[in-house]
Amino acid sequence: MAQIDGATLITRSLRQQGVEHLFGIVGFPVFAIAEAAQREGLTYLGMRNEQAASYAAAAVGYLTGRPGACLVVSGPGMVHAIAGLANAAENCWPMILIGGASNSYQEGRGAFQEAPQVELARTYTKYSARPDSAARIPFYVEQAVRTSIAGRPGASYLDLPDDFIGATFEESDVTFPARCPDPPRPQAGPADVSRALDVLRGAQRPLVIIGKGAAYSRAEQEVRELVEAAQLPFLPSPMGKGVMPDSHPLSVAPARGLALQEADVVLLLGARLNWIMHFGLPPRFAADVKTIQVDIAAEEIGRNVPAEVGLVGDLRSIVGQLRDGLRAEPWRLPDDAPWRAQLAEKVEENRQFVRGMMDDESVPMGYYRVLREIQEQSPPGTIIQAEGAQTMDISRTVLLHDEPRLRLDAGSFGTMGVGLGQAIAAAVVHPDRKVVCLEGDSAFGFSGMEVETACRYRLPIVFVIVNNNAIGGGVDALPEDRFAASPSGYTIDAGYEKMIEGFGGTGYLVRTPGELSTAFKRALEDPMPSIINVLIDPHARAKPQKHAWLTR
Ligand code: ADP
Repeated sequence: MAQIDGATLITRSLRQQGVEHLFGIVGFPVFAIAEAAQREGLTYLGMRNEQAASYAAAAVGYLTGRPGACLVVSGPGMVHAIAGLANAAENCWPMILIGGASNSYQEGRGAFQEAPQVELARTYTKYSARPDSAARIPFYVEQAVRTSIAGRPGASYLDLPDDFIGATFEESDVTFPARCPDPPRPQAGPADVSRALDVLRGAQRPLVIIGKGAAYSRAEQEVRELVEAAQLPFLPSPMGKGVMPDSHPLSVAPARGLALQEADVVLLLGARLNWIMHFGLPPRFAADVKTIQVDIAAEEIGRNVPAEVGLVGDLRSIVGQLRDGLRAEPWRLPDDAPWRAQLAEKVEENRQFVRGMMDDESVPMGYYRVLREIQEQSPPGTIIQAEGAQTMDISRTVLLHDEPRLRLDAGSFGTMGVGLGQAIAAAVVHPDRKVVCLEGDSAFGFSGMEVETACRYRLPIVFVIVNNNAIGGGVDALPEDRFAASPSGYTIDAGYEKMIEGFGGTGYLVRTPGELSTAFKRALEDPMPSIINVLIDPHARAKPQKHAWLTR
């Protein structure tokens, strides 16, 4: 009779449930799980910090629609990975965290790294459990996977004591549940769909806001057909970029402020009216704006602003219903609608302004010139990870995406430090695409050691560090009195590029547009990762906003 152990049960179950990638750090008691993962054909990536590993797992969830998994040791390892659970929960991305634990029979005795892990995970998970026996691990894995992708996606946690991992069974005594299918795609009620279309038809100044829920649900075709049929101006959220091509003539992204402020009907597609959307409230939005809200989570409908119509269900299904309704009774915003002209004028004005900064060849460079180089040289389909306050914000304006799910950033939780883990996830999931990891120097610091991981696995990520020597606003010099240094300042002109050379990658220190251009070109062609450390003007800033509250 063939024997099977707990570690194999876990990894075989993950594989059967459609989990393909496991990021982690081994140690007591999870060595055996990582080894079993490799035997079972699950790609295992050994990372350097549990936070980065947990961010990577969630990014896989977003990019593929099946959760990525993260494997951590008991106690401190699990505590570090709670960062990833929180980030996944706030972004509504599926992931599974697997935490080792000391022997179940030592519980409560003060065992090595003992911690209330199931409870710790609870706040940021949809499902947090320790199997009731080692033999039932496959049942718990299926539940964890299914819960993470069903309804509003999120995180799951499985707690595995050492004695469960090492337990052995007769293979014939173990039951493996069938692969849980991709989640159902419920439609909205037909009456609500017609009401939504009536509201839309009555709009003078309609606006579609496309969020990362639309990207996650892979609604790009339906969204495009709806937007084009009604000729609706649209605005993507940061990670909603590319569901509709940024280069599409109906994009009013460059006139974001005006579009939000003046729209009378907003069709909200998988985007929350949270801080990113200024809560849907004045002064950013009109006080009497009518919202048509599409979301998988019923409790999201009407948050902060009562919805005129709430359409609860799967975004791709519902946008398809809206499109069909519109085809049956065609309507479109007239070509000569004053709203179109008003937006077009603002789009042009802002484009010109930004163009000026992108074309500024001064040395040291500002953000816009650096980002222009990335935009111009990156081949179509490049995945961009962007983090760091200004680097991330400005990149949203300058970098254009014509396909969905090509942008990863600090997201709904505003998590700095996600960058390297997410870039590694993107490179593993999409080996056919270029991955550029754009980092402020501060953001890079949170998980810079993952450069070693990228080199070890030969993931040809181009890390671009936009270096202003500081968190947020830049610093020129450090004072004589070392403890009087600005709390936001870092080492001036730090040689970040040198660290990658110790791991077999190539580092570039650049100051001028020409140097950046050459370095970026070489880095894109390099089969190994590179760091391009760009020393920018520490006083460089984003485009000034019309009202102070726009940047609050
Ligand atoms: P953004 O940050 O891009 O504005 P949010 O993360 O705030 O986007 O909102 C995404 C929304 O998408 C969440 O409220 C989530 O419930 C929703 N969502 C996720 N998956 C689906 C889906 N398949 N169908 C509809 N809505 C979804």
